[in-house]
Amino acid sequence: MRVNVYKNKILKLLERNHLLSIADIHNKIAGADYSTVYRNVDQLVSDNRIRKVVFDKGKIMYELSKDTDKHDHFLCLDCGDIEEINVSFRDLSLLSNHKVSDLLVRGLCGSCNQKV
Ligand SMILES: [Zn+2]
Ligand SMILES: [Zn+2]
Repeated sequence: MRVNVYKNKILKLLERNHLLSIADIHNKIAGADYSTVYRNVDQLVSDNRIRKVVFDKGKIMYELSKDTDKHDHFLCLDCGDIEEINVSFRDLSLLSNHKVSDLLVRGLCGSCNQKV
């Protein structure tokens, strides 16, 4: 029963926030220990309720998984800003024997690009 309470809290948090790390989720759920948060997030990923987005080894975040919204991400290498993008790259026949979970595009966002 406790487990479901945490799962609902995690889903509600992700409805209000696009991407959160385990540490962010842990900070926002009062009274939950880190391993409980981690276990519940892991189960939600297995159940396809949320998806894991890996920006690099040290930056792993989670977001709601919706069939109607299959966006990818653009990461700014300067300010770390993350934007949603839509690329139809996963349809390429080149990738027919691969399972593409998500795409990550990296570069400079509009405002960082103007600073250079
Ligand atoms: Zn930027
Ligand atoms: Zn996203």
